Amino acid sequence: MPEACTQQANSATAWYLWRGDIFRVPLSTLQRMKRQGGWDLHDVAAESRALFFIRPRAQSEYAGSLTSEWLRKWDLLTPYTNPPHMYRIPANVEYLGQFAMDTAYIPPREHSESCLVYKRCIYNTMHVFLSTTNEPLELRIARLWPNTDLETVWQNVHETPVSGTVKVTWYQAIHDIVSKHERRHKIRLVPSDLCGHCNRTDTLQHRLTECGEGPQIWEWTRQRLASILRTDWRRIPPDWLLRPTFKMWPPQRRRAVCGYLPTL
Ligand SMILES: [Zn+2]
Repeated sequence: MPEACTQQANSATAWYLWRGDIFRVPLSTLQRMKRQGGWDLHDVAAESRALFFIRPRAQSEYAGSLTSEWLRKWDLLTPYTNPPHMYRIPANVEYLGQFAMDTAYIPPREHSESCLVYKRCIYNTMHVFLSTTNEPLELRIARLWPNTDLETVWQNVHETPVSGTVKVTWYQAIHDIVSKHERRHKIRLVPSDLCGHCNRTDTLQHRLTECGEGPQIWEWTRQRLASILRTDWRRIPPDWLLRPTFKMWPPQRRRAVCGYLPTL
C-alpha cells in the first residue's frame, strides 16, 4: 500500500479513537502488543505488506500461472540470501523486488503450520520490521517512572474484570493522558497548574486520593482491598491506582484487587 494511503488510514483511525482529545497515546504505541503497553491495534502498513507477501507465494503454488513463472525465472521461490545485492528485476514488476527482499526474512511455510498461524507470523515479522524504523523504543511513561515493572502493570490492566470502557479509562490514566491542570499548564493551555478547589497541584493522583470526595472513596477502597488481602489498610499504597505493579497469588485474588482500582 502506498505510504500516503497508510497515512490516511492511520489518520482516520486516530480521529475515530481520539476525536478532540488533547493528550493521546501515539498510534505506534497502540499497535504494540498488550503486554508491551499497547492495545494490539491493527498495523495497516504491516498488514498490507503481509498480504502483499502472501499473495505471490500463494499464486506460485498454481503451476503454469504467470506469477509462478516469474518467481521461477528470478529464483524467488526460496529465501533470498543476500538482499543488499539483488539482481535486477524489471521496473514494471518492481513489486517482485519487494517480495524478493522480504523472502530473506520470512521462511517458507512449514508443513505442520496452519495457514492462519503462518499469516500471523508474517504480520508479526512485518510489524516488528516496520516498527523498529518508525517508533521510539521507550514509552513516555517508562521515562517518567523508570523503575516501574510495566509488564506487570499491563498484565493487571488487561486481566482486570471490568467493562472495556472502564479498562480504557484506566489505560489512559496509567499513560498519564487524562487532561488535568498540571499537564495543560505545561503546554500553556491554562495559566496555573493548581487545583480550583484546594490550590494544590492538580494531578490525576491528587483528584483521586486528595481532593473533594476522593479521600473518602479511596479510604473505602483501601479497606475493601485490605480485607481481600488480609492486611492493614495502611499497607495499600496510593501508587496502585496509577502504577498497579503488584503480583499476587492466586490469580483470582489479583483480579479481585484489580477490579476495585479502575472504578475509582
Ligand atoms: Zn484539589
